[in-house]
Amino acid sequence: MKVCLKCETSLNDFLLTGKVGCEHCYDVFSEEVSALIKSQNGRDFHVGKTPNGKTIQENNAETYLFLLKEKSLAEREGRFEALVHIKQKIRLIEEDIYKRGLKQ
Ligand SMILES: [Zn+2]
Repeated sequence: MKVCLKCETSLNDFLLTGKVGCEHCYDVFSEEVSALIKSQNGRDFHVGKTPNGKTIQENNAETYLFLLKEKSLAEREGRFEALVHIKQKIRLIEEDIYKRGLKQ
């Protein structure tokens, strides 16, 4: 069982709640986060390939993880304007995830 060494959130906790305990969790559970987003999006959507050859849900999962990392970077570096934009994008993707019932 994977456990975040920083905040002791386990993979099970994460899968049950859909929530992570700290920014480090995203690195620890990045595979699972991607898999969840892909499977949730894939359930009722048929999507084609995008120009880079990946499905939309693959891109979405990658974008989400990228944004989460960007967010912690921006926080650390005090780039507050960038942080606002990043948080808006994260919220859009999270709303999408909520709608599909990942985080209930
Ligand atoms: Zn953690």
